[in-house]
Formats: sequence, structure tokens, C-alpha cells
Amino acid sequence: MICSKCSEQAVVSLRYFGLHLCQAHFIENFERRVAETIEKNGMFRDGDRIAVAVSGGKDSTALLFCLHKILAKRAVDLVAVTVDEGIAGYRDDTLKVAREIAGRLGIEQQIVSFREEYGFDLDEMVQGKDVAPCTFCGVFRKSALNRMAKRLGANKVATGHNLDDEAQSVMMNYLKGDIERLLRFRPRREQPGLVPRVKPLQCIPEKEIAIYGMVNGVFAESRECPYAHLSLRADVRYMMNGLESLFPGTKQSTMQGFQKIVEMARDKRVQIDLGACRMCGEPCVKDLCKACELLCKLKE
Ligand code: SF4
Repeated sequence: MICSKCSEQAVVSLRYFGLHLCQAHFIENFERRVAETIEKNGMFRDGDRIAVAVSGGKDSTALLFCLHKILAKRAVDLVAVTVDEGIAGYRDDTLKVAREIAGRLGIEQQIVSFREEYGFDLDEMVQGKDVAPCTFCGVFRKSALNRMAKRLGANKVATGHNLDDEAQSVMMNYLKGDIERLLRFRPRREQPGLVPRVKPLQCIPEKEIAIYGMVNGVFAESRECPYAHLSLRADVRYMMNGLESLFPGTKQSTMQGFQKIVEMARDKRVQIDLGACRMCGEPCVKDLCKACELLCKLKE
């Protein structure tokens, strides 16, 4: 197969664009789409200090590499933040990858662990309990990232969420019938105490991120988290991948439909004003933040 832009051999087919691209044109196309997402959503300004969440998995590793490249001429500062949830036999490998990629790019890296922040590893939190590990993990990870970003003086947190993650989240909220949460999903206004989060890879399919990592020599192959199969997300992911292979463009159209709903509901007030948690001071809806609420239950 020949590249649609030149006479080189194509390395990837973007079926929904009807394009076959060689390595050089794929990298150019990928980085242009990320740069457009950043610009369109006004994600960064000169003077920003951006905490990039780098788990050491393929998405966050590619994100750090890509931001380092496309923001090279901008007056912004990147710092890599890695959350160690404390998942035996899984997180240690990815921590090494995160350290290696940050070191290679000359970017400061900081690690924040559940044990240091909350007194427990994720494994301890969920052991012998009938709870969904991803629920605990998601709550504490968001909180740990926010705390570390503030300590580092960052005014943005960039995460490696991709098109697949976004479409899965939208679908999960539909399936749960949680339309309020769905409408709060995006866009967000700034809230006191909460470092704004941005997702520069939100329009890029997961497979293309893997290819981008491979062709740039930063592909981080990691094992799946041992808790991943216990989540609703795993089933939704399986379903959406099946639909995407039968009907290419399904994930994009899921997000386009969601965007239309957001626009139709623009006047509805769905964003809640956040207060401060009475225990830790982190931003929250009620009087206790979700992380402290879960911690209290764990300590009971
Ligand atoms: Fe955490 Fe669940 Fe992801 Fe594992 S799969 S890292 S438990 S959110």
C-alpha cells in the first residue's frame, strides 16, 4: 500500500479519513491533530506549568513525547507526575518506563503514591472487600494528581485520555442513565482548588497512539492491570471495539453526538459549585470529598 501523500510505503490506514500514510506523514498528521485539539480548546497559554500525568503506559508515554515536541517553541514548562497506586506485579514495571521516558526527554518527574497520601496501597484498600477497585483507584488517582499538581505549582494537568476512553466514558454514562454526570463531562469551568485538566489526545484513537509510540521508539508495552477486567469499562471497551471494526467511525460519531447534546443543553446548569472538604481541604461537592469518604469507610 502506497502513502496517499507521497510514493513511500504506507504504515497505517486511517479508514475514517480514507487515508494511507507513510511513517513521516503519519507523524505529521498525528501531531497536527493534537496541536489542533490544543488550539481549538485553548488548552495551554504561555507561562503555563503543565503537570503531565505519566503512568508509563503507552498513551501517557506518547503524550509526554508529543507535548515535549509540539510545545518545544512555546513558553511552557512540563513536569511529569506518576501516580503509584500500589498494585503488586503491575505498577513497578510502568514506573520504570515513566522514569526512563522523563529522563530521556530531560523532564522533571515526581511520583505520588496512594500509600504516602492516604496510608494504604490500592491492593490493601480492596483486599477482601466487595468493591470495584477501579472506583477506588479513579477517586484517589484524581485526588493525588490534583494534590501533587498544586504542590508543584502547576496550573494545568494533562492526561493521556484518548478517543476510545472518551467514547467509553460517554457510553458508560448513557448505560447508567447518569445524564447529569454525562453533561458535566465536558466542557468544564475553573473551580477553586481544582487544577484544570486537559486531554490533548482526546480525538486520537488508541490504536494510532500505539503506532505513534512505535514509530517514535517510545512504545511502552505494558501488561493489563489485574483489576481491569472487573470494571464496566472493560465490557464497554469490548463492545465498542466490536462496533468500530464493523462500522468504522463509531467512536468518532459517539463523541460527535455527545457534543451535540452538550450544545443543546448549554443553558442547563449542570456544573456544580465546589466547596472544600472539611478533612483535607480538596475541592468537593459535599462536605467530605469522595477520597476522604472512602478513607473513612476503609478505617471503620
Ligand atoms: Fe486503576 Fe482500574 Fe486502571 Fe487498574 S484498571 S489502574 S484499578 S483504574
